Amino acid sequence: MGFFDSLFGKKKEEKKQEVKRSCPVCGKEFTGKGMDVNDGIICMDCWGLVCDDFEAGIMDEDKEFYIAPIKAAVLAKKGELAADKEAKARKPEVCPICGGKMPKFMTMEVKDGYICDECFSKFNKLEEDGEIDKEIENVTLKELSALIAKVDKQKAANEKRKEQDACPVCGANVSEKSTGSLWGDIKRSVKDEIPKFVLLKDNQKICAECAGKVRLLYPILYSKTYDGDGMYNGAHIDTLNNITLPEFRKALEDVNVKRKQLEEQYGSCEAVISVGSVGRDFENVRSNPGKKEYRIRGKILYGKASKGNLIHVNRDGFNCTMRIERLRQITGFEEYSGNAVDSVGEGYYAIVTVAEDTSCIYPGDTLIIV
Ligand SMILES: [Zn+2]
Ligand SMILES: [Zn+2]
Ligand SMILES: [Zn+2]
Repeated sequence: MGFFDSLFGKKKEEKKQEVKRSCPVCGKEFTGKGMDVNDGIICMDCWGLVCDDFEAGIMDEDKEFYIAPIKAAVLAKKGELAADKEAKARKPEVCPICGGKMPKFMTMEVKDGYICDECFSKFNKLEEDGEIDKEIENVTLKELSALIAKVDKQKAANEKRKEQDACPVCGANVSEKSTGSLWGDIKRSVKDEIPKFVLLKDNQKICAECAGKVRLLYPILYSKTYDGDGMYNGAHIDTLNNITLPEFRKALEDVNVKRKQLEEQYGSCEAVISVGSVGRDFENVRSNPGKKEYRIRGKILYGKASKGNLIHVNRDGFNCTMRIERLRQITGFEEYSGNAVDSVGEGYYAIVTVAEDTSCIYPGDTLIIV
């Protein structure tokens, strides 16, 4: 064929849309639109089977946009579809995942079979929790049963955690178990006797008192993230959640070393506070408008600050002393309220209220409390 012949030949082909072609992948004849790949045109049926894989990046547009690799993929897909169809041909009597009874009507279909209602509700839970991002009809029995097994295992671990009733360090009660009677539970919750504990990384529950001993090394942090639309989301991060029981036991030793260092540094004092911010305290401004009070917000680095303690400030050779009127324990610099307490221990954040002017105190100062 000469140059002009081929040129005109091609032109003619373009004009005539209804030309019959043979698909190099499936061998079937087709008319109309096909899909242009690098070395030919394939039929839309074949393209339909692999186009998702290209879109999802499973197949590489640069390397695999040729007839041979597409043919292999189409054959694999057809095999898979046939197997799924075959597997689905018979509805089983029992659920292939849990062995439970299949409902008579309305069984749920997955990619290669059927599952019972209970397993379907487990699928929904997985989807809610973001553990799975596939539609139910694209999930295989194997995938789903592996995921369900994983979640069941986690659930069992959580149940076990609930059963732990003593702090592994001191033996204090950390049980979440019911008292056995509704009235008993109500009484317990009213009296705030429900044990407070911190959950470690390995699901061990440490009583609040033991946790408090290592706060110097493992504080509770407060952070804010921007949620969009002028909204902020505040979250408390307990750094103890990231360590295991053996690491916690080590921290109990390490914290003594740290405390000794601080003792050497600051000598005999009740506490040391690192100042985060200073400002007016408006808590009693309505009942006593003439009295000005100030707040020092900061972290107790060492010791225990209590009501009635004195704060010593030495700035540029000028000494002043102020008395702690009130104390609040908070979990970060940004938090306003917190709980009114008599004392705040090391590693915790506090709002210290004094009646004296605090203009001699700057953020970043380290103050001695006696
Ligand atoms: Zn084809
Ligand atoms: Zn099931
Ligand atoms: Zn304990």
